[in-house]
This record gives sequence, structure tokens and C-alpha cells, in this order.
Amino acid sequence: MPEPSADLGSVPPDAILSLAKVCKSYGEREALKEVSLAIRPGEFVALLGPNGAGKSTMFQLLTGLFNADTGTIRVCGHDIRRSPVAALASIGVVFQQTTLDMDLSVEANLVFHCRLHGIGGRESSRRIAAALERLGLAPRAHEPVRALSGGNRRKVELARAQLHQPAVLLMDEPTVGLDPASRRQLLDEVLALRSGGAAVLWATHLVEEAEEADRVVVLHAGKVLADGPPEALRRAVGRATLAEAFLGMTGGRERAAAEPPPAPT
Ligand code: ADP
Repeated sequence: MPEPSADLGSVPPDAILSLAKVCKSYGEREALKEVSLAIRPGEFVALLGPNGAGKSTMFQLLTGLFNADTGTIRVCGHDIRRSPVAALASIGVVFQQTTLDMDLSVEANLVFHCRLHGIGGRESSRRIAAALERLGLAPRAHEPVRALSGGNRRKVELARAQLHQPAVLLMDEPTVGLDPASRRQLLDEVLALRSGGAAVLWATHLVEEAEEADRVVVLHAGKVLADGPPEALRRAVGRATLAEAFLGMTGGRERAAAEPPPAPT
């Protein structure tokens, strides 16, 4: 049962994932400053921020690795601090670094995940076969993960993140290290999940990956600077493209201009 809360503030009642005034510091460094955001079922939300914005810190809080210093995080109504098991059962995660066992087969990696979530026997086989079929990986099921390309390894991680049928998928810069075609494929696969009602939070520093999101949350120096559909953000700051709007908001232009030119070689 979702717990009642006195501090939901303006969180929409149908939010499946919400952060309300979340703060997190590392010693003196404030990595997240009163961050609030909410995601509804079927929404693809891009968390767009330059390096150091606080994206990974937010993912560490959302995956229960650390607790926020203050503020509330809820998944499907469960407070992640008070009911971590229920909250985390509703989350699927693709981390920035691969967490597959390279020497196990694709299938064995997925079976292991099913067992961790208490899914066994025929149900496990059915879900794994369906996921591999959907992603075009069925013929590779018995190969060691090591034999797969980077793009296909990411697809296995995407399949794994969905096996326990989570309400929310968290993807932390999942295209890092992939070639452009594999990036595009992965983004398309995840965008397609919306039709099934999945909510997705996709962290990235690449504006082009945010262009097709339902909403873009711009995070900079630990603060949410903007939250809205890409077109609305662009118009609100009077820029021609989302890339220009992002650079304008985060001071990227100014930083780039202030950097010294590269030394002659
Ligand atoms: P991003 O993922 O957007 O690059 P991070 O969440 O990694 O941002 O970092 C946010 C800020 O917190 C940065 O200033 C970073 O230097 C700092 N930071 C991150 N992790 C630690 C840590 N373990 N100890 C101290 N500072 C950290």
C-alpha cells in the first residue's frame, strides 16, 4: 500500500516516480539542491545535464545506493527510504557501466536476474524468450556476452531491466561508448516502450537524445533549471534549437568561449 505523506507538495496524483525537494551533498559539495520532478506512466523523460550536473547522484538515490539528505523519493507510492524493497521492485535499471557477466551466456545472465526477482520455471523462460525475440537477439541467446557488440550488450541490459516488469525504467547515460547507429537503435527501442505504458527516465548530456522526449528536465549544478516538452523549452528561452537553449541555460557557450584555444602541436 502506498504510504500517505505530508510533503508531496505539487506532485501530480498519477506520478509513478517522484522526487520532492531532494538534497544531497558530498561533504561541502552540494550535488543536488532541492530537486523536484515527477514522471507519469507512459512518459519518456530526458534528464539532460552537462558533466557534474548531478545526474549520477540522482540515479544513485533512485536506485537506493544512498539516501537523500533531505526530501522524499517515491516509486509507485512507496517511499524509497521507508519501503526500499517495494520501491526498488518497481524499478528497472541500465547503469552507465555494464553489469553483465561477460563469461556467461546471454540467456544465463537473464535467468540469473529472473531468479533474483523470484521469477522461475516456465515464466522465466517465457519472458526471456519474448524479450530476446523483440530485440532481435534470440539467435545469440547461447553465446557468451563477451562475443556481442557493445550495442547488443546494451540491448541485453535493456531486456534484463524489463524482465521483472518494472513500472519505471532508469537509464543512466546508456549510449556512452556506442556508435551512432547503435545509439539510435537503443533510443528507438526505449521510445517504443511508451506505448506499453512504461515510464522512462533517460539521463544524458547529449541534446539530440533529448529531442524526442515527452519532457526534458534540464539539470545544472544540482538544480532543475527547466522542465517541459523540448519545443516549449526552446520557445521559452527564445532559441532556435533545443541545443542552443540548453547551452544558453547552462552557460556552455560562455564556458566554451572562456576556454583557452588548444596548444599548437
Ligand atoms: P553527473 O552524473 O551529472 O556528471 P555527478 O552526480 O557525478 O554528476 O556529480 C555531481 C557533483 O557531485 C559533481 O560536482 C561531482 O564532482 C560531485 N561528486 C559526485 N560524486 C562524488 C563523490 N563520491 N564524492 C565527492 N563529490 C562527488
